[in-house]
Amino acid sequence: MTTPLSRRQFLGGLGLLGVAGATAALPAAPARAASPHSGELATLLDLSKCVGCGACAQACKDANAARFPEPKKPFPPMLPKRVKVEDWSDKREVDDRLTPYTWLYIDHFEGQRDGQPFELHMPRRCMHCQNPPCANLCPWGSCSKDDRGVVEIDPVTCLGGAKCRDVCPWSIPQRQTGVGLYLDLLPRFAGNGVMYKCDRCAARLDAGQLPACIEACPFEVQQIGPREEIVAKAKALAAEMHGFVYGLDENGGTNTIYVSPVPFETLEASRAKGPGRPHLAAVEDPFENQTLLAAALVAAPLAGLAGAALRTVSRMKRGADHE
Ligand code: SF4
Ligand code: SF4
Ligand code: SF4
Repeated sequence: MTTPLSRRQFLGGLGLLGVAGATAALPAAPARAASPHSGELATLLDLSKCVGCGACAQACKDANAARFPEPKKPFPPMLPKRVKVEDWSDKREVDDRLTPYTWLYIDHFEGQRDGQPFELHMPRRCMHCQNPPCANLCPWGSCSKDDRGVVEIDPVTCLGGAKCRDVCPWSIPQRQTGVGLYLDLLPRFAGNGVMYKCDRCAARLDAGQLPACIEACPFEVQQIGPREEIVAKAKALAAEMHGFVYGLDENGGTNTIYVSPVPFETLEASRAKGPGRPHLAAVEDPFENQTLLAAALVAAPLAGLAGAALRTVSRMKRGADHE
């Protein structure tokens, strides 16, 4: 059996022992991922331990409640009209899919394997890809990946155009209309809100804390550590349970790695499907596609400039609001 990282091991891995409570600032100019970083952290989720109690999902909501969107209504009419309002603000309690207010939900699987019934649960959230198309292709530079492997969306500059969701193989980011900078720019033409998703509790990591969902789980389903160690543990665990691994190669490799006693193809066949419910199919590395790679290379410098401009506009707007 693998042993979850203790808090001491975790802090030690981050170089934070002895500086408990130290807060490193979020990266001012986040690295746009062109290749995997060496110091990335990954999480390992052992599905054989998860009982589906939902404590992790509730902890995620509690830890992030202050960051959930509070939209202004009525929403400005959108042009072109094909751009749809996405409003979850009156459905915050929805817990069976991803929404701007649910960054983690528990998927449920039941079926038969080799004539034996199985029942499994699986916490679903952003996979924190090693080479994330959401960050590489955001036209505004609002989605980024840092050296710890955290992929996050800046709610200050995100215009809600949903490019990140379009290029994410699992359609993870979720849009809330009526919030964010687009309201102050061109509310009818630019974007439609802000995109939200798990940021692996980046602020808690900064403060030397575990992500809330990991800390809350009574069964230590999740552990976090340097990716190389997590990959080795995932492989060892899978070998021990004669199980299967998801996330090693999907989308070019992710920093969320699942180990299951049942093949992921079988889980995929038995899951409830629909928007906001990420699939479990194999995903090729998107940047093997030369067209996408070229698009990312073109987008990166432009997105950097656009992001800087949007941050300036946002600061000016906040300054004007406080006068
Ligand atoms: S990961 Fe842990 S807290 Fe979350 S549903 Fe599973 S057992 Fe419960
Ligand atoms: S899972 Fe989707 S949203 Fe998350 S890092 Fe990967 S591409 Fe981006
Ligand atoms: S890492 Fe943080 S933001 Fe992500 S699912 Fe867990 S609690 Fe939520």
